[in-house]
Amino acid sequence: MEDGNDQWVEELAVREAGTTVEWWKIVWYKRHVPRATFVMWLLCKRRLMTKDRMKAWGIQVNTMCVLCRQQEESMEHHFLECSITSRIWQKIQKLCLVYRWSYPYSAELSWIFRHVHRTKFAVELCYLALSISMYCGRRRRNEVIFQGKNINVVEIVQQIVQ
Ligand SMILES: [Zn+2]
Repeated sequence: MEDGNDQWVEELAVREAGTTVEWWKIVWYKRHVPRATFVMWLLCKRRLMTKDRMKAWGIQVNTMCVLCRQQEESMEHHFLECSITSRIWQKIQKLCLVYRWSYPYSAELSWIFRHVHRTKFAVELCYLALSISMYCGRRRRNEVIFQGKNINVVEIVQQIVQ
């Protein structure tokens, strides 16, 4: 199905030396963690269930992000624009000895996708860290909604490291 979302995904394709590496070849790379990769796959396809999408479908829902409780939950917000997920990602970057500012997630993904196909260990580690961070952030978001758990950035980072 062609829509504006597919164009966004195409922008994530890596173009270098006249060749294109499709995003899915990068997301499903050989050392991936299946659960984390599934979340990244949904993210790249813009199919992850977020409250702004539920509202757009006419579902009555409080659209406030349950992690930061400051802004509406959208895909862009949930991944890296949210102050909580940003803090998680920054802490994980430091643990991986990667020092970058957190960009909106599309820019962050584009940066990783431009480099990860080169199979450098550090870049693969960066992608692995990002995908697991996104997965754990998403899992905590669901635990807050469905189990009433608290948000504890240090605890989430410890889960990611394990
Ligand atoms: Zn938030």
